[in-house]
Amino acid sequence: MLHIILFGPPGSGKGTQAEKLVAKYELFHISTGDLFRSEISNKTLLGIKAKEFMDQGILVPDEITLGMLKNKVESLPHVQGFIYDGFPRTIPQAEALDEMLKEKNQHINALIALHVEDDEIVRRILKRGQNSNRSDDEDESIIRKRMDEYRLKTSSVYNYYELKGKSNSIQGIGSIDEINDRINSLIDKII
Ligand code: ADP
Repeated sequence: MLHIILFGPPGSGKGTQAEKLVAKYELFHISTGDLFRSEISNKTLLGIKAKEFMDQGILVPDEITLGMLKNKVESLPHVQGFIYDGFPRTIPQAEALDEMLKEKNQHINALIALHVEDDEIVRRILKRGQNSNRSDDEDESIIRKRMDEYRLKTSSVYNYYELKGKSNSIQGIGSIDEINDRINSLIDKII
């Protein structure tokens, strides 16, 4: 089984690239942001709790995120592997993921970080906000808050996996296909 983390700030193109990898490598795409949005539209208790944080552009607490993630992974025992998008976003989430995989004799194969400049991120997210129905994409101050959260709480996850020799960084600027080629050549080296 292949376990790949697509990493990078909000708006760096993780979701777009994850969809391409799903098609090529038959991986299952887990986006914690999408899982939360689906809980919100189903009006579950978890969704109601998560929405409070998401609307402010801050991370949902780890215990809520981890419970949801574990339920999802455990409901899908027969896939070739996973592509994690927007998870892990904190060191405790990374530790919990590693622990969960260890219990199944599995491990993270690679973390692939997409590098994109701040101003480009704001431009991309505001553009996405024009037709995505995501209120957290429409307000520049919320977008900047998400970028601060990324720097403060998430960016260290790169170093966490770098110490394990798993982290890779690629340029996230260019066409979707160019970026996809960069990611594919990294994955082809590890499988
Ligand atoms: P983006 O990458 O553009 O910020 P996401 O859909 O990945 O979009 O995330 C939207 C929001 O969902 C985040 O701002 C955060 O509040 C919440 N969220 C998503 N994944 C996590 C996570 N792993 N841990 C905590 N909060 C999360």
